[in-house]
Amino acid sequence: MSAPGILIARIEAVLAEHRELWSARREMRRRKISDGAFRGRPSNTPASFWLKVAIAGPDDCWPWRGHTRGDYGRYSEKSKHIDAHRYAWIWSNNYNPTRQQFVMHRCNNKKCCNPSHLELGDAQINTADAYKDGLAKSGEEHHRARLTAGQVLAIRGDRRRQVDVAADHGIGQPLVSAIKTGKIWKHLEG
Ligand SMILES: [Zn+2]
Repeated sequence: MSAPGILIARIEAVLAEHRELWSARREMRRRKISDGAFRGRPSNTPASFWLKVAIAGPDDCWPWRGHTRGDYGRYSEKSKHIDAHRYAWIWSNNYNPTRQQFVMHRCNNKKCCNPSHLELGDAQINTADAYKDGLAKSGEEHHRARLTAGQVLAIRGDRRRQVDVAADHGIGQPLVSAIKTGKIWKHLEG
């Protein structure tokens, strides 16, 4: 299966799980069975995110249909807020970027959440202090980084298909692409 095909299958799986949960809840209500686990709305799940995205073909833009802030979609989990396209990228790549790493649109459509239209890039770092700070925070000692420097170098040198490399490391293919093209982790020398 192609990379977008795998992604769409993953999204369909979380939506199917969501539908099953709701039909289980309806069934329990009908039978007057109560279970603390089912109290309240099932929210803050990947399904609740993807239900707000107008998912179209693999190459189309997938516009966000929920709240916005400025020109960008805004997704909220409890009191935490995140740009919708950033959430889409993080979920698809199973990787949490550092503060210095931005999720950018390749399609110029700021509400688009199609992960294949999104890419990760390092912020432009100018001053020496900011550079040092950036190194510390984008390096492997930063708590959110889940790839080690060794893994990044191994990914860069791996000549297999990007989807296979991504599967080995438990991340998404777009992240492998960003590493190979030097869009991120470019301070690492192998
Ligand atoms: Zn797009």
